[in-house]
Amino acid sequence: MIVIDEERIFKEIKDKDPVSVSVNGPDGILPQVQEVAMKITKKFGIPAYVLGDTTWGTCDLNSIGSKVLGAEIQFNIGHTINIESPEKNLVLIDAFDDVEFDSVAKKCVDVLKGKTISLVTDSQHLHQIDKVEKILTENGIIVKIGKGKGQLNDGQVFGCEFYPASELKKEVDAYVFLGQSNFHAAGIALSTNLPTYVLDPYFNEVREVTEFAQKLKTKATLAIYKAAEAKSFGVIVGLKEGQLSKVFALKIKKELEKEGKEVQLFAMTDITNERLRNFKGIDAFIQVACPRISTDNQFDKPVLSTPQANALLKILRKESIEGYLEIPHWL
Ligand code: SF4
Repeated sequence: MIVIDEERIFKEIKDKDPVSVSVNGPDGILPQVQEVAMKITKKFGIPAYVLGDTTWGTCDLNSIGSKVLGAEIQFNIGHTINIESPEKNLVLIDAFDDVEFDSVAKKCVDVLKGKTISLVTDSQHLHQIDKVEKILTENGIIVKIGKGKGQLNDGQVFGCEFYPASELKKEVDAYVFLGQSNFHAAGIALSTNLPTYVLDPYFNEVREVTEFAQKLKTKATLAIYKAAEAKSFGVIVGLKEGQLSKVFALKIKKELEKEGKEVQLFAMTDITNERLRNFKGIDAFIQVACPRISTDNQFDKPVLSTPQANALLKILRKESIEGYLEIPHWL
């Protein structure tokens, strides 16, 4: 069950007395976000808007929506990071999953006994890391937890940022991700090139995602080679507040033009195959917003992320692209 720090929300409203507020959170907890909004209106008699667009991370908070609405405080629920808030009038609210890992951790012992592993997770299960570490250590597994960096806490990863995992890749045999997210776990496998397992407490199963990650890598690499044959490129700047990367977009445009390619600039909030179909005369795209848009989705034409774009330049210059995803941050 997801436990939201509602007391923090109520205290902020009491202290600041806003005329209206907005609330949002990842798709998986939207029903709980709706409940919070209803409670706010009942308790304080003010409008509480549920921002219904996606919020994939602290890079994608939808704070522009709150400004348009005139909501004086925005509560973004479920994206715990190690800083208080990236924006004024925006309050990050913790949401922890209270599911227990005891049973699935014991199953993990059968698979990884005698190995050295690193425990990693997302914000919802961070509070369980120490408990799982104890269970695994008592059962003959050596456990290491990588240090946080930037917005990341110790042992925490984002879909494109893996510092606590990367720093240990020479010291461990495998990674164990706490939670259900194959998405995060595959990112760890790709950025470290080491076996990675998911400890899923809901299905009570230990599953390896290394092969799934390899499939994503093959697809990403094929797209790069296909893009190398393109004559015309669309370079897309992301319009989500934490994904704006104009400098890299202009740099890649310049580099591609040096290689004799034609480049047009685009700017988009949501980069989908359907939207890209509207653009004519473009053989391949490079999007410098969220790298996982490129690695995890299907597109008619090559749509490269930042690390893929860097690899493309290397191919055009006849250099090796080995290990192009094995970096701690894909932006
Ligand atoms: S993977 Fe995408 S959504 Fe997640 S933190 Fe990175 S840029 Fe943001």
